[in-house]
Parts: sequence; C-alpha cells; structure tokens
Amino acid sequence: MKKRKFSVFIGLILSAAMLISCISPAFAIVIPQDVKNVILMIGDGMGENSLEWTKSELGVSLAMDELPYQGYSITDSLSGLTDSAAGATALSCGLHSFNSNLCTLSVLVNGYGATICDYMNVSQVAKSLGKRAGIVTSDVNSGATPSGFSVHTYKRELTEEITAQQVDCGLDLIWAADNGVSDKAAFEKAGWTYSTSMDELSGIKNGERSFGAISGKIYYETGSEDDAPLSELTSLAIEKLENGKGFFLMVEGAHIDKNSHSNNKEGMMKSLVEFDKAVKNAVEFAKEDGNTIVIVTADHETGGITKNAGTGEFEYTTGDHTNADVPLRLFGSDELVKDGAHVKNTQVGRFIAKKLGYTSRFPSITVNFRFPIDLISALFKVRKSRLR
Ligand SMILES: [Zn+2]
Repeated sequence: MKKRKFSVFIGLILSAAMLISCISPAFAIVIPQDVKNVILMIGDGMGENSLEWTKSELGVSLAMDELPYQGYSITDSLSGLTDSAAGATALSCGLHSFNSNLCTLSVLVNGYGATICDYMNVSQVAKSLGKRAGIVTSDVNSGATPSGFSVHTYKRELTEEITAQQVDCGLDLIWAADNGVSDKAAFEKAGWTYSTSMDELSGIKNGERSFGAISGKIYYETGSEDDAPLSELTSLAIEKLENGKGFFLMVEGAHIDKNSHSNNKEGMMKSLVEFDKAVKNAVEFAKEDGNTIVIVTADHETGGITKNAGTGEFEYTTGDHTNADVPLRLFGSDELVKDGAHVKNTQVGRFIAKKLGYTSRFPSITVNFRFPIDLISALFKVRKSRLR
C-alpha cells in the first residue's frame, strides 16, 4: 500500500517535470525542405550481431551492408531499456517516451493510464505536407511498431482502441497480419479498401486507400499460397504510394525480434533475410527514382547475441531486449549518420520530418488539458479494482 502511494507520488512529480520540459522551446527545431520520398525500414530486434551471425551461419551477403552511410542508433527510452512501443515513438516522433507509450507521454497507474501529451508522428508530418503515408509490417496492424506510426495511446496492449484509431488515422496504406479485431465494415465506411490477401492487394489502384489484414505469412515464404512475403509487399506498397508529391513508408520486419525472444536462430535468420530483401527492393526503387532516402535501423537488439570468446561461435545470452546500439544505415543522405557514428534514436524521426520538407516545429506536442481529470479517474479505477 505504502509502496503504491509512493509510486503514484513519483509518477506525479515525473509528469509535472515532463510537462514543463515538453513545452519548453528547446524541443522546437525549424528545418528546411528536402527530398520527395522517405522509406524507413525497421528490423525489430535487429542488432549488429544478428547480421553477423546470419551472414556467417548462412553464408549470405546482405543488401543493407551495401548502404553507403553507416553507423549506430542508441535505443534507450525514458524507462531505460526500451520496448518496441517507446522505440517506435522515438523513431516516429523524435521524442523519448516511457515503455508501452505510443506517440504519447503518459503515466500508468496499475494498468490504467493518463496521457500528458500527444506527439506528432512522421506519418502525420507526411500527410500535413500533402504526401501519402503507409505502413507495411510482418506483425499484426496493432503491433507496437506499426502503432507508433499511426496512433496515440498510453498502452500498447489496447488492441481494440489501436485498431479503432487506425480507421481514422489518415494514412493511405496499412498492410499487416490480421489481428482478428479489425472491423471490415468500419474500415470500408471510412473509405478504406479492405483486403485479406496478396492477390487482392495487387488489384489496388495507385492512391486507393488500402487496409490489408493479411491471413497468410508475411515474415518469409513458407511455401503456402497464402504467403505475402515482406519483400514483395514492400515493392507493391511503393508502387501504390508513388505520386507527384511524394510519400513516407515504414516497413517493419517484426519476426527478427519475435524469433530472438524464443532464441530461435533459424527463424530469426530467415526473417532477417526476408527483411533484407525488402531493403534491397526499397533501395532499387530509390536508385531509380533519384529523390528517395532509405533508412535502415532497428528499435533495439533482442537476444543479447554475442560471440563466445571460448568457442568463437555466436550465441543468444538472453530472451529479452538489450541496450546494445543497433545498426543505422542510409541510402540517399549522409546527414544523419556516417563513418560508424552513434546517434540517438530520436534523431531518426527528426531527420525524417526535415527531409520530408516539414518547416514547422518538430518534434511537436499537443498538451492534453484533460490530464489531471484522467489521472484522478485512473486512480479511482485502481481503488475500485482493489475493492473487488
Ligand atoms: Zn521484443
């Protein structure tokens, strides 16, 4: 009881401090116009040694090794070791958040939340500039990474809430594995074409608003006809999003992380190779287009993959995330990273907004004036749940 009261007290102090830091002008950066399209490729849980292990074990070379500008991203969140929600928030909004927060700064009281402020994400930036915005992931649409580029919520587990927000999120394209709760009628009513297979997605017209709740496997080809491999979806999404004003596209290979959580190296490597094929396709488009930046990075490392000093073999050392700096590689610009430099993950979101040509303040936050009421309500819910 005492411990709970203390943590609520700490939460309030922290919230007040964050609110003050949020509205200070130090967060405002004014930036000039640049390229037409930006493609951000996120290998969830992909550390430097995920790449090294895959190459040595499978004897393959990787397209992402060919990218001209290379360095590392520092992945910590306000909670310390990051999760994919805070990781996505840093990459999409250019600001740190607590774990579980998606494009918000929020406090959690025994599972109930109160949002202090919402962060603008780079999909919103693209849309505000009259560009198109899209997401392709091997995860479900309500996974932490795609959610960090489409919704604002205090808790990543709020699947129904996240899916409902995606109906009205303003994006042009969301293609993901079916999460089982997306309401086809609600999406269609809001102007989306709702598809469930690669075949159906191929039939989408350029510029048609497209929600893909894919029933087959996306992370790599399993030999089933239902498969919709990430690399093929990436090329198709680029084709559907391409237009005179430009687009922002986020592509996530989610199963590098998922397989490393269970220390399944074969699964991790297959997912990584498929993600790399998607990178190759994106870079091929960028080379031809001449006005596109491709950024390849991860939200964090998973599995603590290390080379054993005795055996000289790579191995997993944990089933969790680690705070190892992750690869950050670019095609099309040397302004974010080069020569093996280490930069904060928040710089990625800021760089994207700048390169899309956003000249207003970014990072940008909207203060939630209901915060005190929401916090009291969250506290009340805790008391009620304790009585039960
Ligand atoms: Zn994870």
